[in-house]
Amino acid sequence: MTFRTFLRNLIQIINLTFMPNARFEALSSFAARPKVKVEMPSPKISDFFADSVFNDKAMKEVLSKDAYNKLQRCIEEEEKVDRDLADAIASAMKTWAINKGATHYTHWFQPLNGTTAEKHDSFFIAIDGKGIEEFSANSLIQQETDGSSFPSGGLRATFEARGYTAWDLSSPAFIMTVGEGKTLCIPTIYFSYTGETLDYKSPLIRSLQSLNKAATDVCQYFDRNIKKVNATLGWEQEYFLIDSAMYYARPDLVMTGRTLLGKRSAKDQQLDDHYFGAIPERVYAYMRDMEIEAYKLGIPIHTRHNEVAPSQFECAPMFEEANLAVDHNQLLLDVMDRVSSKHKFKVLLHEKPFSGVNGSGKHCNWSLSTDTGINLLSPGSTPRTNLRFLTFFINVIAAVNNHEELLRASIASHSNDMRLSAHEAPPVIMSVFTGSFLKDVLELLEKEVYEGNLNKSGEIGLRLDLHNKVPVVVFDNTDRNRTSPFAFTGNKFEFRAVGSSANCSLPVTIINSIVAEQLVKFKTEVDLHIKEGDYKDVAILKVLRKTLIASKRILFEGDNYSESWVKEAKKRGLSNHPTTPSALKTFKSKKTMQLFEEQKIMSREECAARFEIMTHDYSTHIQIESRVLGEMVSNQIIPACIEYENKLIQSIAGLKELSKVDDDILAPRIALLHHISKGISDLMILSKEMRELRILGNQMKSETEKAEHYCYKILPMMQKIRAISDELESNVEDKLWPLPKYREIMLTK
Ligand code: ADP
Ligand code: MG
Repeated sequence: MTFRTFLRNLIQIINLTFMPNARFEALSSFAARPKVKVEMPSPKISDFFADSVFNDKAMKEVLSKDAYNKLQRCIEEEEKVDRDLADAIASAMKTWAINKGATHYTHWFQPLNGTTAEKHDSFFIAIDGKGIEEFSANSLIQQETDGSSFPSGGLRATFEARGYTAWDLSSPAFIMTVGEGKTLCIPTIYFSYTGETLDYKSPLIRSLQSLNKAATDVCQYFDRNIKKVNATLGWEQEYFLIDSAMYYARPDLVMTGRTLLGKRSAKDQQLDDHYFGAIPERVYAYMRDMEIEAYKLGIPIHTRHNEVAPSQFECAPMFEEANLAVDHNQLLLDVMDRVSSKHKFKVLLHEKPFSGVNGSGKHCNWSLSTDTGINLLSPGSTPRTNLRFLTFFINVIAAVNNHEELLRASIASHSNDMRLSAHEAPPVIMSVFTGSFLKDVLELLEKEVYEGNLNKSGEIGLRLDLHNKVPVVVFDNTDRNRTSPFAFTGNKFEFRAVGSSANCSLPVTIINSIVAEQLVKFKTEVDLHIKEGDYKDVAILKVLRKTLIASKRILFEGDNYSESWVKEAKKRGLSNHPTTPSALKTFKSKKTMQLFEEQKIMSREECAARFEIMTHDYSTHIQIESRVLGEMVSNQIIPACIEYENKLIQSIAGLKELSKVDDDILAPRIALLHHISKGISDLMILSKEMRELRILGNQMKSETEKAEHYCYKILPMMQKIRAISDELESNVEDKLWPLPKYREIMLTK
């Protein structure tokens, strides 16, 4: 051995022994995790449920009877709160919050960057050297915020940075606890100085109003007692939960929420041994803790279970009125993250944190419920209620058919693109699954079996009598098609294509808006037939039949994952947008603008601004990913590979120093060395090319052009780099590999 080789070996031994490698540090800190004890505040959940919410019960306790009744009227009839009432509420809210330990208050809102925002103000003010606690009507109703760093899509110039938040009466205030600190949070909407909406909530609230009007009008055909219709939403939140040490040892997870590199583990989800299995003890403690915090905030979590991929889980609440359900989902995402740090876990909400295994979604279960307590998407037990059911059922189908492209756009994001159309995730082609029984019913309707079947009062003795033919169970769990992006599941539709990290406001806003539009159209046509002399039920059935026939292309009962469906969908003229830049264009279409304008959901400008924001957001995410990937390759992957390359060089040189070595002993080593060296060079070349592509992208003026450049040029380059790195990961000595591997992140419990 020459002196140089000796020295090199020595350095390597020192390196491996003393230089910490983040991966091995993570593995050892993971192994030493102490158990976290979780204690219920009380044995019964109902004892502390909604303890931190200024809900009906709390209001009754602290408001005068008169003020309470006035507020209820304002909430129910969507009226304005007058000054005196606002003063009374602010004062009562302050007393309630301070008694609960809150020192600060904040307007809590949902800007278009996908997070929730808050700026805390203290109740405490000092006057003439003396301190008092104050919370005025002004502070409750409206606040000015410096919104210059929230996205506005050009609606607000930076010099006119003022944004305003305004109290949303339809969602109750709550107290958020962070460590020892408690803050009163007031749900608000967020808008610009000139009145344009800058958040997710305002269009949602408007869409709920528009839907309420349209659906209540249609309900009058069936029941004049119905005065209000609400959309209900039950989301199912999927997520990955991994040890925080593994998370912090991977710059990609920290900065982008997903692994940009990483070879698939030899074993992951092939055996289905995680799905619905026993929940690992440490995870169980986390879930209980997270649920306790959720209950205090009035979030009615109902289910918890393992999901398909290793380390993947799901929780779901009971459904609620859609606006509240959206707030609760956003709130839960915060709670999940906060509680996870206490347990030394990290929650990954990204749709595709690990390639090669299932991604995470947020199924949105949507239905319509009346103030008389009826679920309008629940098949009835009499011909009349069945006609009502069919009315809403078919109109939803028609709405999806009319705006399938917009529905696709509503769930478009870079992270969801990674998930859709792969590993048990729904495809990007929208279609509706009804189940075989309802498919038969729809076929009967199409064939006009109801004709000549009128009774004396002009009502139809509907032969589509659903309940007499089938047991109720058919509508529940049996008939399911898990491949469909939009499936009818007994008494609600389940929009499965929504991503786990998304604010579900946007997809729900769009479902509400398109259904409202369709119901208005439906009612206009039915009224016309009635005017022309048709009995009401006949008119309804005629229009339903026509609507159904016109919407048939959207109905699909088969395997949505199959190649044949892609071809079939194309024949049917359904859109197929695999990428976000392509999907988002529909936001600028005349049809979309018209929908939003007519339903008074968004103005043209607001709609265009959202397009700009989503497009910009798309490029920015890929830009960050590409930078992080570049750094990881240059600073971690290449150096590790060079170290291994050196080892191989030494090994080969050492063998050659022996007097006689067979070629077949040397040749495979040389081939391996060649493979590693080539990989290193390729990584160097491609990283440089990727950087140049980024520079080119940054010079582009138009957001659309930039998004397309990131989508079609930079993403494929990132994939190429990943493929090389993952291949190197399978060949480089395990000890030298700097990043926690898939098996270590996902399979260690
Ligand atoms: P899956 O089999 O898809 O996991 P579940 O039947 O457990 O689903 O789905 C239940 C979800 O549907 C829950 O989130 C629940 O709140 C929601 N859900 C049930 N009924 C309604 C409804 N009428 N409106 C909206 N969501 C509903
Ligand atoms: Mg589901």
